[in-house]
Amino acid sequence: MNNIQHWDKVLKRLKFSPTWKVIALLEHNCIHKLNGYDRFLIEPLKGYNISQYTVNRLHEYFICNCQGWQSKLNRGQKPYCAHTIAVRIYLKQQERNSRVQGQLF
Ligand SMILES: [Zn+2]
Repeated sequence: MNNIQHWDKVLKRLKFSPTWKVIALLEHNCIHKLNGYDRFLIEPLKGYNISQYTVNRLHEYFICNCQGWQSKLNRGQKPYCAHTIAVRIYLKQQERNSRVQGQLF
């Protein structure tokens, strides 16, 4: 239970911060681009959750099927979640890697 995301009654916040989650998703290579689609599969973080999520890209707009993203949308807020943030960083990293490779050859 201790390594699973939950509301910490003593600290009055989620046990793991969203920033921690974004970094962990990237470090554990949880993000996979589906070939030929602007769609990303987000693998679960071991010991953190067991659900797999999908992020779809519509131009500069990223849509996630997780509860956090959907509930922000339903409340009329600008939706975002750790998955969509991680995908944006992932894309920036890919872009930078391909630029570095282009300079080498
Ligand atoms: Zn999400």
